[in-house]
Amino acid sequence: MAELTLDAVTKVFQEGDGSEVVAVDDVNIDIGDGEFLVLVGPSGCGKSTTLRMIAGLETISSGEIRLGGSRLNEKQPAERDIAMVFQSYALYPHMTVRQNMSFGLEESTDLDDDTIRETVTDAATTMGIENLLDRKPGELSGGQQQRVALGRAIVRDPEVFLMDEPLSNLDAKLRAGMRTEIQRLQEDLDVTTVYVTHDQTEAMTMGDRIAVLDDGELMQVGSPLELYHRPANQFVAGFIGDPSMNFFDVSHEGGTLVGDGFEYPLSSDVASDLGETTDCVLGVRPEDVSLVESATDAHDFRTTVEVVEPMGNENNVYLSFGDEPSDEEPDQRFVATVGGLRRVERDSTVVARIPEDSVHLFDAATGDALH
Ligand code: ATP
Repeated sequence: MAELTLDAVTKVFQEGDGSEVVAVDDVNIDIGDGEFLVLVGPSGCGKSTTLRMIAGLETISSGEIRLGGSRLNEKQPAERDIAMVFQSYALYPHMTVRQNMSFGLEESTDLDDDTIRETVTDAATTMGIENLLDRKPGELSGGQQQRVALGRAIVRDPEVFLMDEPLSNLDAKLRAGMRTEIQRLQEDLDVTTVYVTHDQTEAMTMGDRIAVLDDGELMQVGSPLELYHRPANQFVAGFIGDPSMNFFDVSHEGGTLVGDGFEYPLSSDVASDLGETTDCVLGVRPEDVSLVESATDAHDFRTTVEVVEPMGNENNVYLSFGDEPSDEEPDQRFVATVGGLRRVERDSTVVARIPEDSVHLFDAATGDALH
């Protein structure tokens, strides 16, 4: 069984001047056998360092990494039964595709030449590159090189795949195609996979579960829908979703949230989740804000259209509270994603509905989700 466990894993880099950088801080994740886990977060949050510790390319400062229950910390990369695919593909330019794919097997196994040849041909067929085996990497497109890099990982039949932003050098269309292909491959091979990306769309579409990192700390691990519907804190809420969730600084006064230019009454159930907290952040996803004909509910607000961003089948409509267009930049601009057929004019007044069953509430001081 190839469950991969990260147990209080920490990485501290020592800088030349004696200072320390905590790149990964006490991270705990259990990745199930055959699971596809996506590690996502902004640049510098510690994704690559985490992956490199799993691969054995970076030492672990404290904590333990286990594969199938046995400790990996002291094992050399070649002893780990883990294959890694890099963003840069890392192919040897002077070798043919076949040589690139055979190399690892020749080095680390005692398979005979015929078996290696057959294994490589099979993997090349799986990746649809069997007609490219005699070419060199310089004679291949980016997408073809990425297939070779993936083919080289699968010939080793590893217990774990690690992928570090493998699609980021491909153009948008090719990237979308390869995403599906990697998912299918992972499902067919049923290999435990950790996939690093900074792209939340890639994370949402590919992962069985997603682990969100920020500044070396694990913010939340969960299925894409859990992260979308029940973010553990404001960071995850803002990171998952495009356009990002709207946030309003509010103070909670006796069952009403008082914001800049609006008041939002809460039902008693929701208000009770806030307890004694007064400084809160109200969050609502753009797709949960709707534009309605007239204000009939306490959660309907007169707003002014600041900008309309047509997206084809949808429009992102940027709104500010109040019905007077202003020359100044509004403090509380927020965005509603609405159907593209609806005509919305800039500077017009519209009624925006922010339904209570769609709002998220966070503690302003800690960022933790309260509701
Ligand atoms: P990106 O998406 O930009 O690749 P990342 O999430 O993969 O970022 P890491 O490369 O893991 O982030 O880096 C995490 C932190 O550790 C950063 O602050 C980085 O500057 C620091 N770091 C990484 N490698 C080293 C190193 N060899 N020495 C010192 N600091 C390092």
